[in-house]
Amino acid sequence: MKNILILFLALFAFHATLVESDAAKAKRPNVLFLFADDHAYQAISAYGSNRNRTPNLDRIAKEGMIFHRAFVTNSICAPSRAVILTGKHSHLNGQLTNGMRFDGAQQTFPKLLQKGGYQTAMIGKWHLKSDPTGFDFWQVLQGQGPYYNPPMNTPDGVKRITGYTTDVITDVTLEWLKNGRDKDKPFFCMSQHKAPHRNWQPGPKYLTKYDDVEITEPDTLRDDYKTRSAAASSQAMTIDRHLSSSDLKIRAPGNLTPEQKAKWDAAYGPKNKAFAEAKLEGDELLKWKYQRYVKDYLRCIDSVDENVGRLLDYLDESGLAENTIVVYSSDQGWYLGEHGWYDKRWMYEESFRTPLLVRWPGVIKPGSKNHDLVQNLDYAQTALDICGVKSPKDMQGESIVPLLRGKKPDDWRKSLYYHYYEFPGAHSVRRHYGVRTETHKLIYFYNLDAWELYDLEKDPNELNNVYGKPKFAALEKELKTELTRLREQYKVPEDTRPLSRKKKPKKEPKKK
Ligand code: CA
Repeated sequence: MKNILILFLALFAFHATLVESDAAKAKRPNVLFLFADDHAYQAISAYGSNRNRTPNLDRIAKEGMIFHRAFVTNSICAPSRAVILTGKHSHLNGQLTNGMRFDGAQQTFPKLLQKGGYQTAMIGKWHLKSDPTGFDFWQVLQGQGPYYNPPMNTPDGVKRITGYTTDVITDVTLEWLKNGRDKDKPFFCMSQHKAPHRNWQPGPKYLTKYDDVEITEPDTLRDDYKTRSAAASSQAMTIDRHLSSSDLKIRAPGNLTPEQKAKWDAAYGPKNKAFAEAKLEGDELLKWKYQRYVKDYLRCIDSVDENVGRLLDYLDESGLAENTIVVYSSDQGWYLGEHGWYDKRWMYEESFRTPLLVRWPGVIKPGSKNHDLVQNLDYAQTALDICGVKSPKDMQGESIVPLLRGKKPDDWRKSLYYHYYEFPGAHSVRRHYGVRTETHKLIYFYNLDAWELYDLEKDPNELNNVYGKPKFAALEKELKTELTRLREQYKVPEDTRPLSRKKKPKKEPKKK
């Protein structure tokens, strides 16, 4: 009798284990990772934009968590993507600049998710030259990709699609969610836009939006770079002097269908005629350029926001919303005229920061606002943590899952490391690295041997470099020690001047 009882209890325990593991599996969440290219947090109303409204992005923040101190490690497109995939700084993942080819043979979080039983998809802008690896499904733009009628690379060759690229990327994402995936497995789907990257070509619906309004100018549009030698001596990204005729839509895009071209000309023809007649000069011309630039940028955001809404609606309609985490972020921030600029690259806040919004039903308290220091370096380990896959020790970030749960660990990081490498290169921003704490920022332009120090509380616009002032000597010393500590922690090589473009590209990884 006793033996039978033991056997019965053992069988019961075994059955319970099975049930539990099935239940645990069933509960594994899906992740829809929505990603933009060059989306300034200043152009999201949840971040307090004084320029535009983004109701669908705001919905993610309202139902989830908004991160006010999310940063990148290297503010430029391809390197940021490589950091996200690998969870390692640029000097370790090999993608220091846009010109290099990503080594897709290396460890990435999507590959680890696949091993852990997840289905992975990469749709839209990839921008890493080599073919995607670690994805069960991929369909990506070629290089930067055009705003209209994009050819897209797939494992089976090139697909040519007619339409506005932001809409097209969402169409492909919806098709995969509805009919392309194995519905017995959880998914991690990366749906990544080209927009609002230069040169900001709006979709057909938004070509005339903002025509009758004036967009607010930033306080620093007419910055003279006093106290900042790197910005004063070398950069080519001013709205005043460096926008091309196609950036300004004086020239129409060359790849439109006749129907698209007709809509385009109807929208820009009258605006360009008025501009030609006005013969603007000096500050009037700068004002006009700013309005033209920022309106086109915001029109591109309108399409992104609309398409985020299409995906949120589908999650609701399909019943997926409850068990699907939605993330929205960008490969870096962007200047909407701050310091007189468009583009990114600098360690100043507008390009160093990036939007990060996360909705996780049942886990994140709706309407949460986070001010901890997080970085795109954390995304890989966060993805693995969310999906119940162990992170490898050589990844360099931290899972932000405790923050999402509203429980900040006592030993959470107190400073961030940044390093930009692409010089010589587009827009001529000098190489620099630096450290940011919650209150201060120290930057070193090492080829110029020029330091900058900012008090972010007193000088949030970073106009007043106080480096070298006796009053800040102790702080300088403290921040330099912290910078050295971070460079050791992240294993940054002492000599950070590699980057000959002639360097042989790494071997093409095997297709998966
Ligand atoms: Ca970018």
